[in-house]
Amino acid sequence: MSTTPTMQSRLKLNRPSLRRLARPPKQRTPLGTAFNAANLPVALALQHCRDCGSVQYPPRELCRQCLGDALVWRPTSGSGLLVSRIELHHSLWEYFKRRLTEKPWPVASVRLDCGVIAFAHLALETFGSSSPAILAADTPVQVFTHTDCSLNAVMIAVAAETPIASRSQRHAIAAGLGLLEPAIKPEGI
Ligand SMILES: [Zn+2]
Repeated sequence: MSTTPTMQSRLKLNRPSLRRLARPPKQRTPLGTAFNAANLPVALALQHCRDCGSVQYPPRELCRQCLGDALVWRPTSGSGLLVSRIELHHSLWEYFKRRLTEKPWPVASVRLDCGVIAFAHLALETFGSSSPAILAADTPVQVFTHTDCSLNAVMIAVAAETPIASRSQRHAIAAGLGLLEPAIKPEGI
């Protein structure tokens, strides 16, 4: 495309479909940013209320049980049960639009043992090749976070028996989902 640099930067700003690189959503609220930071060193960190002990998700300012404001980030077990799984077939976000041209994007809602419900990217291949289509509610799963290529912590659900203790194991699963690389349009600007 023969355009001046100014035109190109305007086009990149206003026409995400023309960009060479498309990334997952970047903007987060201040609480979302705190979630990112708390999850950098561990597999999963959630807010715990210092007064009543209840776990919070999504992150919030006040405890959902006692309205106390003493919420602290703590490493938390990601074990839970699958509530449901869906497949994303359409998105308005350029990164997902490009990914969805290959195959639908699986998403899971999971009830964690600590009592909260999390929405997560679903790593279907960890459930074995035969089972994805029949993944039933109450299937044991585990959830961890990983930083995506927009530098945000995102949740990923895997089969309960999948090894995720080490950072490199979690990294490999996130990479397999394509979350660590932007979606590329070779002829983009
Ligand atoms: Zn509380």
